[in-house]
Amino acid sequence: MTRIGYGFDSHEFRPGVPLKIGGVALAHDKGLGGHSDGDVLLHAITDALLGAIAAPDIGALFPPSDPKWKGADSVIFLREALKRVRDAGYSVGNVDASLILAAPKIGPHATGIRTRVAELLGLHCDCVGLKAKTPEGLDLDNTALAHVVVLLENVKPSRKAAPRKKR
Ligand SMILES: [Zn+2]
Repeated sequence: MTRIGYGFDSHEFRPGVPLKIGGVALAHDKGLGGHSDGDVLLHAITDALLGAIAAPDIGALFPPSDPKWKGADSVIFLREALKRVRDAGYSVGNVDASLILAAPKIGPHATGIRTRVAELLGLHCDCVGLKAKTPEGLDLDNTALAHVVVLLENVKPSRKAAPRKKR
């Protein structure tokens, strides 16, 4: 059995904040604001993984109101989602992501980001797609958006499966 998951996220650019996308630090004059490190791509992947197994979303598991997550490394969120996916009896098949942002140009960093995301998910780099687009016609030049879909494959019976009745 397979399952599909979809995740979306957006963050506003802020001066004086380091920029992290897909777990990779990128040199830029602005970073993404938010309570954690603002990694828009990892947040969308995390939500796609959680959505695929109908788990609570990233905001429910790691509430921005909790000071514990202030400046947190978003890899923590991704690892928790991945653990839940595995506990539910699934493995990640592939991931496809679209990033929408005016700057910096993602092209030169795309391989690095795909490699890092693949490493975090335990996948081959060929199983992580990444497209970068500019927000044409969206009037969102100070915003980064990410859309992600993931495919999960069933690897073992779910731990939640009802035990067989004894006779
Ligand atoms: Zn986010």
